Amino acid sequence: MTAVKPFYPPALIAAALSLCISCGGGPVSETKTDWSRDRARMVSQIRAYGVKNEQVLAAMNTVRRHVYIPEPYRHRHDAYGDHPCPIGHGQTISQPYIVAYMTEKIAPAKGEKILEIGTGSGYQAAVLAELGAAVYSIEIIPELAEHARTVLREEGYASVHVLSGDGYKGWPDHSPFDAIIVTCAPEEIPQALADQLREGGRMILPLGSAYQRLVIARKKGGKIRIEDDLPVRFVPMVREEEGSGSGKRKK
Ligand code: SAH
Repeated sequence: MTAVKPFYPPALIAAALSLCISCGGGPVSETKTDWSRDRARMVSQIRAYGVKNEQVLAAMNTVRRHVYIPEPYRHRHDAYGDHPCPIGHGQTISQPYIVAYMTEKIAPAKGEKILEIGTGSGYQAAVLAELGAAVYSIEIIPELAEHARTVLREEGYASVHVLSGDGYKGWPDHSPFDAIIVTCAPEEIPQALADQLREGGRMILPLGSAYQRLVIARKKGGKIRIEDDLPVRFVPMVREEEGSGSGKRKK
């Protein structure tokens, strides 16, 4: 069992619990800005918060987070700030620390097959791909799936496959997965995901609604064993409206 992380600066917790609502300044284009220093600062902060895996830190230093944030929401000093940011459609790109933390916890090895539920901006998928994983990522909002697919292609991540669909069903055609990472919160572990995790595989996901906890689960002897971890706040994992078949969603 993983112990609760010893150090959570209040600002970090506040950031994890809130959406980014203060995006100051105007949108900034790629050509006018050198983002690499902002990125290096973000990585030092993540390191200071306790992420130790050098490969994860290197991946976070490589992936250009700002390009995953759709242009209208992309602001200087915000794209690399340690907080979630809006990406449209009422959704957010996760806080960088949480992305690093979840990635470190599942520690993807080169060539492993990872299922992600909640592609959102595509940023988390890119970080996993940067570590050499083959990523199968499902997003329920078709416009976000399309945006992520485009950016990931432009950034050269051919090992990320994005499906526009309902994550509750998983992606049986590509199962079993070595690890599963869920970036929206269901009430409990969806059965399809448990079924599609390989024996010995690991899963990290937020569970709950008003009160959420980020848990790590492992599959042993066909059973899922849950280990508790830190309190978090993610967007809910929504269900597709039954019978609509058109991507209509309900909370
Ligand atoms: N990993 C993302 C963060 C995404 S926020 C990133 O790096 O940017 C969570 C995402 O989960 C949202 O885009 C939301 O639309 C999506 N989502 C919610 N319910 C879902 C479901 N049932 N299946 C797939 N995606 C879902």
